[in-house]
Amino acid sequence: MAETYDVIVVGSGAAGMTAALRAADLGLRVLIVEKAHKYGGTSATSGGVAWIANHGLGGTTDTREESLTYLDAVIQGPINRTRLEAYVDTGREMLQFLVRLGINFIPMPWPDYFAELPGSRADRSLVMPMWDGRRLGDKFPLVREQFPRFKLFNRYAMNLEETFTIAARGKGWKRMLAGVITRYWKDRTTRKITRRDRWFTSGNAVIGPLLEQLTSKNVEIRLETKLDELIVEHGKITGVNVSRFGTAHKISARHGVVICAGGFEWNQELRDRFYPVKTSIWWTSTPQGANTGEALLAAEKIGAATEHTEEGWWAPTMIMPSASASNFEEVHQAVFDVGRPGAVCVNRNGDRFVNESCSYDRFGAGMVADHKATGANLPCWMVFDAVFRAKFTAGGFLPAAIMSDKSIPIDWWDHYIFKSETVADLAKKIQLDPEKLIDVVRRINEYAAHGMDTEFGRGSTIYDQAFGDPTCKPNPALGPLQKAPFYAIPIHLGDLGTKGGLKADARARVLDRNDQPIAGLYAAGNATGSPFGLNYPGAGGTIGPAMVFGYIAANEIAARAKN
Ligand SMILES: Cc1cc2nc3c(=O)[nH]c(=O)nc-3n(C[C@H](O)[C@H](O)[C@H](O)COP(=O)(O)OP(=O)(O)OC[C@H]3O[C@@H](n4cnc5c(N)ncnc54)[C@H](O)[C@@H]3O)c2cc1C
Repeated sequence: MAETYDVIVVGSGAAGMTAALRAADLGLRVLIVEKAHKYGGTSATSGGVAWIANHGLGGTTDTREESLTYLDAVIQGPINRTRLEAYVDTGREMLQFLVRLGINFIPMPWPDYFAELPGSRADRSLVMPMWDGRRLGDKFPLVREQFPRFKLFNRYAMNLEETFTIAARGKGWKRMLAGVITRYWKDRTTRKITRRDRWFTSGNAVIGPLLEQLTSKNVEIRLETKLDELIVEHGKITGVNVSRFGTAHKISARHGVVICAGGFEWNQELRDRFYPVKTSIWWTSTPQGANTGEALLAAEKIGAATEHTEEGWWAPTMIMPSASASNFEEVHQAVFDVGRPGAVCVNRNGDRFVNESCSYDRFGAGMVADHKATGANLPCWMVFDAVFRAKFTAGGFLPAAIMSDKSIPIDWWDHYIFKSETVADLAKKIQLDPEKLIDVVRRINEYAAHGMDTEFGRGSTIYDQAFGDPTCKPNPALGPLQKAPFYAIPIHLGDLGTKGGLKADARARVLDRNDQPIAGLYAAGNATGSPFGLNYPGAGGTIGPAMVFGYIAANEIAARAKN
């Protein structure tokens, strides 16, 4: 006899956990099947920021109208307007549900990514405070760890104040850094069992409390259990075929299956099928091999439609050899580095192609557009001077104050990072026209002096300036490249996941190719097409809607279960 649950959720990221938690809260018996051997998906590894318009927290004055004004201005291309409105109308309720369970997001003063557009604000990005992972008991070490750079030396957890002060070397940063390290080593009980810091921050601070609540509601998350097929009986989804270490079995679902299996960023064939330019699975910064699109293929097989599959959530990355395994490389994000003062990006023709200080998703879209026009992007080059090198990270390269040039292995030079005493020599090393690169640098230096980039408008919005250097005058996003040596690293079209997937409606129901709901099938998160189409409105623009539509799916299933 097959096992039977009311609801089966596929995937244990932010979308899946929210769907499962709400369904359990509404009295349904829920099982999450998770392919990985850890909980939390990309969501756990992420920055954990959730962009929720009209959220109602922290005394915000944001409204439905203002949120829609902004979203209408941002969104280019066709989207399902009812679905967008459902997102704007339900986020607040979803958050109140979480608050009732003691999960309290906090608004951050971060500008929306299109700060120049009407309706933009600087309080729609929400984060979770640092959270004690030991509250999870045996499950503590089974939550996916954060992206390496979100911890100090990939080990020490930092709260937001510590992160910002230490990264910017603000007032008291050395004391704070010592405090972070001491806190870790003083925690003797945890040091006896694992090197992992007990304090969950960023994406872990979202997944930890969700997992705790799921556990308290007896929701089982079955790890290493992969969805292979959806079972259709009499025109309705009634369960799933899964496999665990190669052994297949069936699990039935009385009221619905919710696909929250993330995107397809680790499936090269799906990338090649959907994307307009050739990309690689090895450029993504998501957990290796997890989101391979089986759920999308399984749903397509039973007639589901897809949408918005032509783009990823772009985030420029760079690649360097793995610190811990010879013959392997690892991906590092360069999302804020590319736009910091003292750096400029050019394609392989030596031309600038984008405002480098715009949001990472817009930067990626700029790479794609330029590659389509010139065939000379993917990768492009990030060029910077010694002042930049001393102060900022360049992908995986930490500032020279922490990781000096001498400490960079000799075999990395002229392969992963390039250096020369003059801009002309650097250009020759990376096969650019020296005159052209000298001219690009001359122009950037001119813009830096006047604080205005007349070509691409770099530094012209509060978003551009927010991640610059406040000591760089007159414009925090525009600094000169003057001090030798000069450096270059290749920048790839990395991503935080894929933007498109199953076509779902305002009620999180998966639609078939005639736009009709497939009975019993729901989806949320990166497994679906984004409600924002191909646009990324603000920090947290993937996790916010993932959680909202997970919540909506559960409400919908519970309402139908009653009938
Ligand atoms: C370093 C980094 C930082 C980021 N920071 C942010 C941020 O701050 N804010 C933001 O909004 N976005 C951020 N993102 C993007 C964000 O993490 C993802 O878009 C989001 O977490 C997707 O959530 P999800 O629930 O849809 O999928 P996921 O969290 O990826 O969860 C999907 C789960 O499904 C499982 N799965 C896949 N296939 C199957 C199958 N066949 N059977 C069973 N299980 C399966 C996977 O193993 C995974 O656990 C970041 C991404 C990265 C890499």
